[in-house]
Amino acid sequence: MSALAGHTAIITGASSGIGLAVAEGLAGAGAAVVINYRSDEDSANSLAERIGERGGRAIAVQADVSQEQEVGRLFDAAADAFGRIDVLVSNSGVQKDAPVADLSLDDWNTVIDINLTGQFLCAREAVRRFRSQPESARPSRSAGTIIAMSSVHELIPWAGHVNYAAAKGGVRMLTRTLAQEVAPDRIRVNAIAPGAIRTPINQEAWETPEALEKLLRLIPYGRIGEPEDVARAAVWLASDEADYVTGTTLFVDGGMSLYPEFRDNG
Ligand code: NAD
Repeated sequence: MSALAGHTAIITGASSGIGLAVAEGLAGAGAAVVINYRSDEDSANSLAERIGERGGRAIAVQADVSQEQEVGRLFDAAADAFGRIDVLVSNSGVQKDAPVADLSLDDWNTVIDINLTGQFLCAREAVRRFRSQPESARPSRSAGTIIAMSSVHELIPWAGHVNYAAAKGGVRMLTRTLAQEVAPDRIRVNAIAPGAIRTPINQEAWETPEALEKLLRLIPYGRIGEPEDVARAAVWLASDEADYVTGTTLFVDGGMSLYPEFRDNG
């Protein structure tokens, strides 16, 4: 049987990049998926159609994850469509990069609002829903599972990206603290820390051969990551295969967080 048969998953920011691949991966494992998007309705709808053509179940729902009421509406739409919610992949994120002296308060706030507060709002809503669903109807051993899309920058400092790194550092402790708090409810909370993955958010880091070569110096495994690398990790973390895993961050980074510059420094 498919690992996620009978599950419903909400994936935020799923009209592109990692979120899109995660939605496809979870649907491929049998979950009904709710494809959240902020503005790219066409891409979200065509993903839902593709999943439907393959025999899966999917809907696209617009919502800004930094807005409390919109997050409530997103979860209502998921429950209306599929009856229950079992998995949240809190994936939405943005970058607004600048050296600290030039970083505007607006760009600081935007990144914290989406990348950190958005994670809080979605996780809070998920915990409320997981707790209220009848135990007898659970498709899994847990009462629900949350996967936060973090980054290697929950660990690695990143000059010129202080808002982004601060938000991801916050996601790390949000994940661990929440996991500690809700474990007695049999709710699992984990994070995935992608390294460099080929998506729109970091296009300038891989689109030219020169940029890619510079990037590869940071990746011991010798290749850029693909969204599907992250999607496979998300499917595993969402499934009962990972039933005893909570409060951890799974690095999917080709070794980027292994201090690669020390390799040749013996
Ligand atoms: P992406 O730009 O394709 O995806 C980000 C998604 O978030 C987009 O679909 C965007 O529309 C959505 N989004 C932005 N603001 C939103 C809002 N207010 N409400 C709802 N959705 C919103 O880039 P990606 O690389 O797929 O990024 C996905 C996640 O992975 C992000 O959290 C990012 O920080 C993280 N990440 C990416 C990489 C990488 O190398 N690509 C590395 C580490 C972490």
